[in-house]
Amino acid sequence: MNSKTEPTAPAHYDVVVIGGGAAGLSAATALARSRRSVLVVDAGQPRNAPAEGAHNVLGQDGVPPLDLLAAGRKEASGYGAEIRVDTAVSARHTGGALEVDLEESGPVRARRLILASGLVDELPDLPGVQEMWGRKVLHCPYCHGWEVRDQRVGVIGTSPMSVHQALLFRQLTADVTLFTHAMPELDSDATEQLGARQIRVVAAPVSGLRDEGDTGVTVVLDGAPEAELDAVVVAPRFHARADLYEQLGGTMTDHPLGAFIDSDPMGKTEVPGVWAAGNASDLSAMVMVASGAGVMAGAAVNADLVMEDVAAAVDARAGR
Ligand SMILES: Cc1cc2nc3c(=O)[nH]c(=O)nc-3n(C[C@H](O)[C@H](O)[C@H](O)COP(=O)(O)OP(=O)(O)OC[C@H]3O[C@@H](n4cnc5c(N)ncnc54)[C@H](O)[C@@H]3O)c2cc1C
Repeated sequence: MNSKTEPTAPAHYDVVVIGGGAAGLSAATALARSRRSVLVVDAGQPRNAPAEGAHNVLGQDGVPPLDLLAAGRKEASGYGAEIRVDTAVSARHTGGALEVDLEESGPVRARRLILASGLVDELPDLPGVQEMWGRKVLHCPYCHGWEVRDQRVGVIGTSPMSVHQALLFRQLTADVTLFTHAMPELDSDATEQLGARQIRVVAAPVSGLRDEGDTGVTVVLDGAPEAELDAVVVAPRFHARADLYEQLGGTMTDHPLGAFIDSDPMGKTEVPGVWAAGNASDLSAMVMVASGAGVMAGAAVNADLVMEDVAAAVDARAGR
C-alpha cells in the first residue's frame, strides 16, 4: 500500500496555546519549562502594536511592543515550545482531545487548550479615530498618560464612564476638555466634580478628528468651533476574541465595558479542557497582568495534566 495516500494524523501536543501575545507566550514558557509539548499559534496582531512603547513593564519600561514579543518567542522556543504563525479558525472536542483547525497548516490536537487570543478594541465610529489610534487617540492613562502630561487633552464622551476618564487624565495635565458627544446628560455630581477640577465641558457632538502632524489633532464639532489639542481620549468597547470558545460550547460574559471569557483565578473556564488568559478573560489586563495570568494558566494546566497522568499510572499499575 502506498503510504503517501494515507491521511496523516494531526500532530498531537500536550497543550495548544491560541495567541502569542504577553499572555500566550508566558503560558507557553511555563509549560515548556515543565517539559510539556506546546504549540503557540499566533496571527501576529497584538493589541498594542500601534503604540511606540509598552509602559509599566517592569525592567523594560517603554520597550517597543513587537520587540518584547520577539524576546518572549525566543525564550519560549528556547525551552522547546513551537511557535507557528497561523490563525486558528475552528475548534472541537474529539476522541478525548481538543482539535483546532489552523488556516494555513491544517488541524492539530491537544490534551488542553489555552485561549490567549486577546480582545478587539471597538472604537467610536468617527473619521480619524482608527488612523490615529495608539498615537494621538488614546484610552488608558497608565499606558500613555505620562507621554501627554501637561498637554492639551480632550475626552470624547460616550458613556458616564467618560467622566471618570476625564478625571484620571486630569491627574496628568491641567488642560482637559470633555466633549459630551454621545453621553447621557451629566448629573449634578459629575458636573460638580468636573467643575472642581477645572475640566472644560463642551456640550456638542464630535463629527471627526483631523491629524495636524507635529502640531496635534483638531476635534471637529457639530455646531461648535473646532478645538485644537495634542491628544484625544476615547473609550473603546472591549470585545474578547472568543469564536473558538463559543464553538466549544462556551458562553461569553457581558461586562459594562464589553464581553469576555469568564474563568477562575487560574484561568480555568466552564468548557472542559479549556483555559483562558490575558485580555481574552480580563478586559483590563495590561501587559504584565496578562503575562502573569499566562504563567498561572500554564502552571494550572501542567498541574491538571500531572494529575491525569498520575491517575492513568495508578490504573495501569493496578491492572485496570
Ligand atoms: C494602543 C494601546 C496601547 C497599550 N499600551 C500599553 C502599555 O503601554 N502598557 C501595558 O501594560 N499595556 C498596554 N496596552 C494593553 C496591552 O495591549 C494588553 O495588556 C496586552 O496586549 C494583552 O496581552 P494578550 O496576550 O492578552 O493579548 P494580545 O497582546 O492582543 O495578543 C493576542 C494575540 O493572539 C493572536 N490571535 C487572536 N486570535 C487568534 C487566532 N484565532 N489564531 C491565532 N492567533 C490569534 C493575535 O493576533 C495576537 O497576536 C495597550 C493597549 C492598546 C490598545
